[in-house]
Amino acid sequence: MAWRMVTHRCGHQERINVDGSYVIVEKRIRKAEETLCASCEGIQSRRDNRSAGFCELWGSKSQCDRAEPIRQRVLSQVIVLARHARIEDRDAFDELYKQVLRRDDAEWWIEHRNDAITMLAQDIEL
Ligand SMILES: [Zn+2]
Repeated sequence: MAWRMVTHRCGHQERINVDGSYVIVEKRIRKAEETLCASCEGIQSRRDNRSAGFCELWGSKSQCDRAEPIRQRVLSQVIVLARHARIEDRDAFDELYKQVLRRDDAEWWIEHRNDAITMLAQDIEL
């Protein structure tokens, strides 16, 4: 495999895989150059989270970095579902929303990246 060091927007470097067609590799490199590295991305989203009302995540740094985008995605899914919910289900969705903000176990988010809403909903009987 061939690799190249690419500098992210934040100034940090990352080793990027440059196997594949020229167009795809160019796109991959350009994307890396235009975005923050995973670590700065984590810091940035933690900052955003405090304003959204998310609790602090618990776990290793890499677990937290992985869990962060998962719970953000889940929260936006809950918001969309709530918008389409029947009036009588609104309270349950409010509770679900709070559960998403409160769940602080990074490992749990990684494990349940595909069924987080179902898992949380089971506890509150939607
Ligand atoms: Zn960085």
